Amino acid sequence: MRTAVIIVAAGRGSRMGGEVPKQWQGLAGKPVLAHTLAAFAGMQLLLVVHPDDRARAEALGVPFVTGGATRDASVRAGLEALEGTGVEAVLIHDGARPLVSRALIGRLVAALEHHAGAAPALAVTDALWRGAAGLVAGTQDRAGLYRAQTPQAFRFPAILAAHRAHPGGALDDVEVARDAGLDVAIVEGEETNLKLTFPGDFARAEAILKGREMDVRLGNGYDVHAFCEGDHVWLCGVKVPHARGLLGHSDADVGMHALTDAIYGALAEGDIGRHFPPSDPQWKGAASHIFLAHAIGLARSRGYELGNCDVTLVCERPKIGPHALEMQAELARIMGVGADRVSVKATTSERLGFTGREEGIAALATATLVRA
Ligand code: MG
Repeated sequence: MRTAVIIVAAGRGSRMGGEVPKQWQGLAGKPVLAHTLAAFAGMQLLLVVHPDDRARAEALGVPFVTGGATRDASVRAGLEALEGTGVEAVLIHDGARPLVSRALIGRLVAALEHHAGAAPALAVTDALWRGAAGLVAGTQDRAGLYRAQTPQAFRFPAILAAHRAHPGGALDDVEVARDAGLDVAIVEGEETNLKLTFPGDFARAEAILKGREMDVRLGNGYDVHAFCEGDHVWLCGVKVPHARGLLGHSDADVGMHALTDAIYGALAEGDIGRHFPPSDPQWKGAASHIFLAHAIGLARSRGYELGNCDVTLVCERPKIGPHALEMQAELARIMGVGADRVSVKATTSERLGFTGREEGIAALATATLVRA
């Protein structure tokens, strides 16, 4: 069925307060209506706005008509504008419900195959009371009661005829449809499909949007350092006694270097060499925690927090197992995160290759960053 969407945004929203009506107020950086329109992206859209909001509507770049003094009249204006365009079904939606999901839209369109109308609702689960003068005056049976939402979906000719025949004063389009004798199926609604009504609703909506737009970054790092003369190696911030040392410009902490590069990688910020050039003498012999602290600091300055990291050291000797917990604790301390987000483990390469011949140590690391 060829389906259009009418988004009703002509109200003045007196309960919300503020300089502009709620559907034009900012939500996570753009007008509420821009979110609502985005929820129906790719569908045929028609916006119904107040005559005072023409300029705002033009800025959104979607077709619009101006509405009437009541919600009924505004919906009617939208329906009349769609007549003769070949539309077979229409979804009628409140502009102040910006979080409607594609899944819900899909359920409504599917329901129209079998019913003249379909609308989302949630069964009432809280106990219901009657009240008078601030006191509970009685209870109300909640069986069979629903909280109604939008979009409300209808076969187009039927809802246009129903609106033309209606005397006005309906709460919503389901009431108009039922007054015309149309069957309206109840489709499962969504708790997140909230209608922005009171100022606190904006904070709730922003929290839901933030969850949907979760930004997770993944980076990997790989490093190798060769053995040289010495009596210890630095690995993941821990000084480990060994018959050799590791050769490098800094302290040659191959594990911490791999981890640092994983964080830079997750940020698309190159590697240690970009931020601490080996050609710069001030980093000669530097303790590698400076690099790791810089990388995690850069991540935080961009709004990210470490999700977790996993470092694998590849060597025959020294044995890593006895030091792994201390390494985990030290990396966690440097990055300022819980040790449960840091993994340090080791493997040999079965005596194969340069690590197997004990010419050096390799390290691999993976890190995730999550927008905080
Ligand atoms: Mg290195």
